[in-house]
Amino acid sequence: MEKTIPYKIYLEEQEMPRQWYNVRADMKKKPAPILNPGTLKPITLEELSGIFCTELARQELDDTTPFIDIPQEIRDFYKMYRPSPLVRAYCLEKKLDTPAHIYYKFEGNNTSGSHKLNSAIAQAYYAREQGLKGVTTETGAGQWGTALSMACSYFDLDCQVYMVKCSYEQKPFRREVMRTYGAKVTPSPSMETEVGRRMNAEFPGTTGSLGCAISEAVEAAMGQEGYRYVLGSVLNQVLLHQSVIGLETKAALDKYGIKADMIIGCAGGGSNVGGLISPFAGEMLRGEASYEMIAVEPASCPSLTRGVYAYDYCDTGKVCPLAKMYTLGSGFIPSASHAGGLRYHGMSSTVSELYDQGLLKARSVEQTSVFQAAQTFARVEGILPAPESSHAIKVAIDEAMKCRETGEAKNIVFGLTGTGYFDMFAYQRFNDGEMQDYIPSEEDLAKAIARLPKVEA
Ligand SMILES: *Cc1c(COP(=O)(O)O)cnc(C)c1O
Repeated sequence: MEKTIPYKIYLEEQEMPRQWYNVRADMKKKPAPILNPGTLKPITLEELSGIFCTELARQELDDTTPFIDIPQEIRDFYKMYRPSPLVRAYCLEKKLDTPAHIYYKFEGNNTSGSHKLNSAIAQAYYAREQGLKGVTTETGAGQWGTALSMACSYFDLDCQVYMVKCSYEQKPFRREVMRTYGAKVTPSPSMETEVGRRMNAEFPGTTGSLGCAISEAVEAAMGQEGYRYVLGSVLNQVLLHQSVIGLETKAALDKYGIKADMIIGCAGGGSNVGGLISPFAGEMLRGEASYEMIAVEPASCPSLTRGVYAYDYCDTGKVCPLAKMYTLGSGFIPSASHAGGLRYHGMSSTVSELYDQGLLKARSVEQTSVFQAAQTFARVEGILPAPESSHAIKVAIDEAMKCRETGEAKNIVFGLTGTGYFDMFAYQRFNDGEMQDYIPSEEDLAKAIARLPKVEA
């Protein structure tokens, strides 16, 4: 007999994953290796350990081990806010009058307000294990910086955050949350690093970009004894940690015998959507099941749908390793009128490769339609979604409306990555009817893509 599906499917503590899942292990064609920016040769563990914590560098380069144990201290921290609920969106289904069954995995139930804490706590843990004094990082919309500040304070590590200037100015409260957790927050580009000074001289008044903030954070880490750099998305290690989202989602669905038809996630650097789809992609790669999986990106920063698959720099200052990824070019700076996150020029190399292999699809959506979807969702499901997450909501709603046409009762699962309490300026613009859509022209894109490094892919 079919079990009645509750509004919220919770897992028991003992049902939480004990291991992360590394989808690269099941990929026959692996993501291309990351390259040393100096030699343009595949980077070695030793070289990578100069930038990242050694254990994280090891995870970054490991594309053969399918399961990696989650250390007990990380599991204990996870227990404070995990397992996160898989919610059956009964109210949204009713509002849309759709036969589809909609589920969302809600990652906003912690102070950082997003899934980013899943990787932040892991990265801080390995830094502490290595006996480091602290870590440096960048933050765009602020969620990653907040998550990392929380994780560092938990493990008594120093935390230095370079925050993209337009967010620093638009989101003073984000900054104060980070400072409350003991982090030092610097607007980027700053005058504290060589890269920052160069950007300020070259582009006076620039509102900054993630690519530039990354370079500043790397430079700051290299210049201080006992510091390493940590990154909140894009990297394989981050995707690995975020697989906890997908593993829990799958366990919750399995508990009620639900087979997902579609899995939808928003894509900035690709870590949440990569983590969400990982166990499902693994089944597809092993020929055990089939799913329709969609990464949703903003039309203003469309790396998958309009970018090229090539080696590129991960940062503006070209100090990070090069990755082969779908990219708009590291010189691409999205319009400042674009709200919140998902502003990164590139995409996780694993997500890029899964997309290139056709396992994962992509769709781009415009900002005002995203906020319309956010509003619809907020009004019936009670959660005020982050603008980033609302990209996934938008496509989930679109798909549920298609089901209304066809009468199909598809199981649609999407990742609700976080809450939007710090995005009220964007909501205000939407509510005042002042929000605009910005779509880069072919010329805009061609300019940045023409400056891609010349590396054989
Ligand atoms: C950072 C963030 C994202 C996008 O980042 P990914 O690395 O692509 O997951 C999405 N939603 C929220 C709420 C975020 O904070």
